[in-house]
Formats: sequence, C-alpha cells, structure tokens
Amino acid sequence: MSDLIRSTAAELAAKIASREVSAVEVAQAHLDRIAEVDGSVKAFLHVDAEGALAAARRVDEDVAAGNAPASPLAGVPLALKDVFTTEGVPTTCGSKMLEGWRPPYDATVTRRLKEAGVVILGKTNMDEFAMGSSTENSAYGPTRNPWDLDRIPGGSGGGSSASLAAFEAPLAIGTDTGGSIRQPGSVTGTVGVKPTYGGVSRYGLVAFSSSLDQAGPCARTVLDAALLHEIIAGHDPLDSTSVDAPVPPVVAAAREGANGDLTGVRVGVVTQFSGEGYQPGVLRSFEAAVAQLKQLGAEIVEVSCPSFDYALPAYYLIAPSEASSNLARFDAMRYGLRVGDDGTRSAEEVMSLTREAGFGAEVKRRIMIGTYALSSGYYDAYYGSAQKVRTLISRDFESAFATVDVLVSPTTPTTAFRIGERTGDPMAMYKADLCTIPANLAGNAAMSVPSGLSDEDGLPVGLQIMAPALQDHRMYRVAAAYEAARDAALGHTVISQVPQLEGAAR
Ligand code: GLN
Repeated sequence: MSDLIRSTAAELAAKIASREVSAVEVAQAHLDRIAEVDGSVKAFLHVDAEGALAAARRVDEDVAAGNAPASPLAGVPLALKDVFTTEGVPTTCGSKMLEGWRPPYDATVTRRLKEAGVVILGKTNMDEFAMGSSTENSAYGPTRNPWDLDRIPGGSGGGSSASLAAFEAPLAIGTDTGGSIRQPGSVTGTVGVKPTYGGVSRYGLVAFSSSLDQAGPCARTVLDAALLHEIIAGHDPLDSTSVDAPVPPVVAAAREGANGDLTGVRVGVVTQFSGEGYQPGVLRSFEAAVAQLKQLGAEIVEVSCPSFDYALPAYYLIAPSEASSNLARFDAMRYGLRVGDDGTRSAEEVMSLTREAGFGAEVKRRIMIGTYALSSGYYDAYYGSAQKVRTLISRDFESAFATVDVLVSPTTPTTAFRIGERTGDPMAMYKADLCTIPANLAGNAAMSVPSGLSDEDGLPVGLQIMAPALQDHRMYRVAAAYEAARDAALGHTVISQVPQLEGAAR
C-alpha cells in the first residue's frame, strides 16, 4: 500500500505545502486505491476523478506561486456523504427519488471545503435520506465494512466511514441525526464527530429531521477530525439554526490533549448505557478505556441520566414527524423522479405513483409513523409527549454537566453486525443508536474515538465522549489524550490492524 494513502491528513497537508509531494499525486494515489478496492467496499456512489484532479491542480498552482495554503488541509482528499448538494455533481441521498439529479448549487459545507482547497474525491453511500444504521437502506446496495466485508459499516453514513477504513480517503464528512457519524465511526475503527447542533451549517444538506440534523467530520485521527471541524464550522446566515458564536477551539484542544495529561478533568460514566443488549466485549473495551482515562489523571465518577432510557422512543417519534414534513417536497413536480406522467393522469396520481416508486420501505415507514404522530387527536399523546421527554433529556445533561466536564459511554451496544442480520427487525436496527441519540435530542456535542478491538470478535469498538453545547473542545482534548495513550499501550494504531484488501476484485 502506498505511503500516501496511509498518511494522516495533517501529514499530507504538510508534505503538499512543502512541495515534497504534489496534491495531484496525492489525489491520484487515492483514486487508484478507490479503483482497486471500491468494487468490494462500495463506499462511493459517485467518484469525481476529473473534479478532484482539477481541484488538486489548483492547489499545486497555488503552492508553486508561493501563496500561503488556503487552509491547514489544502490539497487533502475527502469523501463527501451524498446528502450534501454539490454543484453539477450527482446527489442522490441514497434514494431512487433523486437519481440523476445534479444540484444547481453547493451546500455551505461543500463550498467551505472547496474554498479550503480540500479535494473532494466523490460522494459516499448512505441509507436512503439518512434513515438507517447499516447503509442497507441505500437504493444502490449496501456498503461493506473493510474489517469484514460480510458486515455492515454502520449507518447512515457507512460509505464515509468505510472509505476511511479502506484507506480510500483520509477525511470524510457525515451527518448525524441520531448517530449516523458516531456509530459508523465506532464499527469501522475511525473517529466520528457530531458537533454542537448549529455548529456546522445545514444549508444544502438534504433535510431529514431539521431539529436534529448536524454535519460533522470523520477521520482516522482526532487531530485530523479537529482540523476538518474548524474548516466546516462557523456561522452561516443561510441556515436560521446556525449558531452565531465563535467556533470552539478544537484544534488547540486536540494538540493539548495529545500531551496526555487529564489531571483535573472530571469524566462521568453514564450508568444507563450497560447491561442487557450490550455485547460483553464492548463493555470490557469501554471499561479498559475508562481505566486509561483514569491513568491519565482524570477523575472518574458515575452519573445517572434516568431520562436517557426514553431517548430512543422519543427520537423515533420526533425524527419521523419532521421527516414526514421534510420529505413532502419530493412531489414529482419540482425535481427528481416523476412516474406516470403520460398526459392521462392527474397531478395527484403522478405524485402518488412517484412516491410509491421512489421511496424505499424504511422511508415509507418513517413517513407513515410521522404523519400518524402529528395527526389531530394523536399529536399530544405522541409528538407532544416526545417533546417533553426531549426536555427531560436536556435537563439530565445539564445536571450531569454541573458536576462533570464530559460524559462517556460505549458508542454503540455491539460491534458491526452481519449484512442482513437486522433488516427484518426494525427495532433491532434502531437499537444501534441507543447511546448516541440523547446528544442529538439535547443538541450538545459528542464524538466516537476507537477504543481498540473487541476481545470476542476482533472488531472495532468505539468510546463515546459527550460535552456540553459549544464546549466541543472539551471532548477533543479527552479524545486526543486517550488516543495517544491507547496507541502507546497497543504499540500501534487501531486502524493499522484493518485488513489490507490488497487487490480486492472490482
Ligand atoms: N440510525 C438512526 C436513524 O435511522 C440515525 C440516523 C442518522 O443519524 N441520520 O434514524
């Protein structure tokens, strides 16, 4: 495997800036890797080789002209979840509904990446409209986990995280409504961050559940995630829920954390996230991670957040309710698929035929649940109650953060499950997000950092670290300290143990 594809984003940026290597060479090495292994992994829905090489050439021209780099990640390749609009480049959201759609504009995240000189390699696979935990709900087939090609890479952003684990890209972007960045990060042995709600613009992000959706960075190291975080974050007048506050200093925190001292940091272990349904190997890995934090000087306390037990049912009312409204825009009239428009049918019939053909089973299930929960006579009992639970969850976080700096838990109850194992059982699928959903409901920051491999099945496990809103830097500091200690204890990085997939068939 070429050294270039094994490098971190920070290393690549430094080599490009010092002309040790060109951005074009770096982009080409990753495009070659994609050509070599993506037939097996299927992380990408669309590879934009031409666009990537053109962007890389612009960075090289800039460097040759002696200009300062556009950003600390100028010239570094990235895989973009297909939920973000990209001008002129196909954007499907994993759905037949948007097959062939080339958006006329860039999402704010896309635009900021381009302005930073980040090289977008292509668009990654995802569960349709970001609804799922395995990428199996994609209309274009599942992505496979590079650790074991018979297993899921998590979801909904399985393509983004799998591309990192397969060394197809050193950086990726995901979105996290209930766990779709953190859970794929956990099961692929990579880092995934859900910033504070409103920390990264939602403009041009195809909406699933607007009060929960949050874009964030995916990477193989905590520092790389922090560098990417600072590029995409910050106020955007085009998103009414964007926070108008300084971006939390996550890069400085990641660098500080790497020094490895957590003296004085209070870490709360959430007592709700263990017991039945949790794989013993996941719990053992979590306990070892907590012991490591303690060794670094952190003070460990147990914290009970009783309302977290109701987070999953509340989420599965709120998210589908918002989705049923958001997805009304796919009406066969404005863009995307149109079925049965032969001049004999009414607009209503065409709309109905299109939605029947264009949406997959899980999306239809959510639209029906959401429509029901919002209907008169049921609104108070379902949507109203869920909103009350949401408030209780926020209060649990508030009282926890009155005594601790960060909270920790396993990211997801099990390691990567087998493709097909949970497709017939929606509840089993939904449980993958048991530990991640509270942070979405409350809007605070949370991330997953690899905590090694489970001693049962040799598959990656993730440590979740949660911080109060706009205190994203706190979790980066803890994550970076933990990552350094973990690697020192193991004698290597977690990701270095992933199968090489060398010469995997296309
Ligand atoms: N798995 C959760 C769901 O299906 C979360 C999805 C997400 O974060 N986009 O809704």
